[in-house]
Parts: sequence; C-alpha cells; structure tokens
Amino acid sequence: MLAKNLYVHFPFCRRRCSYCSLFSRVCIPSEQRDSYVRNLALHAKGNYATVYFGGGSPALCDLTPILKVITADEFTVELHPLDVTEDTLKKLFDNGVNRISMGVQSLDELTLEKMGRMYTPLEAAKAFEMVKKHFTNAGVDIILGYPGDNAKWFNELKSWDLNHCSVYSLQNERNLKDTFDDDTVLDMIKNASESLKDIGLERYEISNYSKPGFECRHNLAVWLGEDYIGLGEGAYGREGLLRTKNKGTKLEESQLVKTEDDKKERTLFSLRTKYGLDTKDYPNWRKLLDDFVIEGLVRKNNNTYYLTERGTEVCDSIIAELI
Ligand code: SF4
Repeated sequence: MLAKNLYVHFPFCRRRCSYCSLFSRVCIPSEQRDSYVRNLALHAKGNYATVYFGGGSPALCDLTPILKVITADEFTVELHPLDVTEDTLKKLFDNGVNRISMGVQSLDELTLEKMGRMYTPLEAAKAFEMVKKHFTNAGVDIILGYPGDNAKWFNELKSWDLNHCSVYSLQNERNLKDTFDDDTVLDMIKNASESLKDIGLERYEISNYSKPGFECRHNLAVWLGEDYIGLGEGAYGREGLLRTKNKGTKLEESQLVKTEDDKKERTLFSLRTKYGLDTKDYPNWRKLLDDFVIEGLVRKNNNTYYLTERGTEVCDSIIAELI
C-alpha cells in the first residue's frame, strides 16, 4: 500500500445540524449502515501510521468489522456526545483506538438547540468526562460565530482537562440569518486562543490547538504533504500523483495531477502549521512572501515563513497568491 495514512468517512447522522454543509445522510436503517461498514472493512485492512474515522457520526455504526482489520500508531474516532457510552468507549479502546475527538460545538444551551445538536451543555460535559476515563488523548471540536452565540461559555472548557481543541468559524453556507460580521468572529477566535493558551494548549495549525505531544498526527500528515487514502462516501485521497474521491467504497472520480502541481500542493499547505513554509525549492515565492512580512502577515526565519496571528486570518488568500 502506498500511503500510510487512512481517512474513513461515515456519512450517517441522527439529524441534520442546522449549520451542516458536509456530506451526510440521516435516518439510514441500521442494516444499511452495518453493510456499509462490512464493505469498508474489505478495503481498509492494514497497518497504518495514522487512521482517522470521521463523519457524520461513525459510532452510529457497529464498527467492529473494520476495527478488527486495522492497526495504527495513531487511531482517531470522532464521537457525537450522544454516542458516548462506557460500552462504546471500551470497545474502541480494546480494538486499538487511542484518540477521541468529540464534536461539542458550543456550551450555550440555546445555541446547541438552534444547531440541532440534541444535547445540553451538561450532557456534553459528562460525555467528555467519560471519554477521559478511557482516553488520555482526547479533545473537542468547537464552532464560533453561530447566530446569537456570544461564546462567553468558552472559559468553561478550562476545567475539561483538554489535550486538544479544534476551533472553527461558522461557514455560512446554509444562509443562516443574523450571523456575525467577520471582525466579531475573529475577536471570538482571538479570545478562544487566549483561553486555550491559559490551559497549556498552543496553536499548531490555523484551527487546531494542543498540549505539546498531542497534535493530531493524521491532520498534520495531510497539511505537511504526506499521502493519505480516503475510503467511504465522499472521502478524498492523495496517493502519489493520484487524487481520488469516493462514492461508497467505489472510486467516483480520480485525477492524475502534474508532478510540479503535486509538489506545490504538498509544500504550500505547511504554511497553515507552526512548522511554516520552507521555500528552499521555491525561491521565486520569497519576493511575495517578503512583502507579506512587511505587511505583518508572515514572519521569516532563514528561508522558512510562518503565519503571524494576523496572517492566520488571511492564509487562504496568501496561498492563492502563491499558487
Ligand atoms: S453531525 Fe456533522 S455531518 Fe452530521 S449533520 Fe451534524 S454537522 Fe453534519
């Protein structure tokens, strides 16, 4: 097998969250979900550096058949707080899963209700407490900028014994009303960064914070240009020059990119991370990046460039200019 990293997508959800723009399906009968997993298990077998089960809600399926055929140094499963039970956690742990990412999204009761998340802040806190009893390597996902949410609750996370936290701003692709303007959301993110810093979580990628040693190796592998296999409906993969997109367990689309484009893609996205963008193979990028240094968007150490805090707000535009 070419790639050492595997992403598996489980597109099943209890109910559609109001902000969701991901590929997911609701109310799928359990027989269909189980046969989906059995089918994936036939293709997923192997020993990997990293595996990431994302969704959707992976634990809405009986994951046993696929867990039995995979081993990985870092094995992450995303959990919805309502999927967290002693049984599920034990089964995941006993089958080699060693990292949990729980989608909390907010700790404001009304916001959770409007999001359609189906749990209260207290239930989310209890679920995470249970996760921590089984997994040291555990964190949460948060969304800021939801209409009406003021994120004053963010400080509550300080008592959660987090090792990892992903903080996303609301992508308003479903035309939600009363969303905040960009500056307000950026302020919320700044406050969130400070709160996380207080409990020892440093930003290691634009949207990701962790204690030292608890970075998500799978996501870092993707940003730092490694290969990854994508399995499951809607999953993307990158293997050598091949880019894949799946439909079920079958390939929906694949495309061979040019060697030069492949190398550029693998290099550029490191700018998102704390490791920065090494320009040794792209000296022609330096003129533009030096201009960004003057504007305070990046800083430079030898020939490697790192985003400043202001730069994290416009990273996509910087990358677009370099492409
Ligand atoms: S759980 Fe995730 S994938 Fe499912 S509807 Fe909500 S946001 Fe979308």
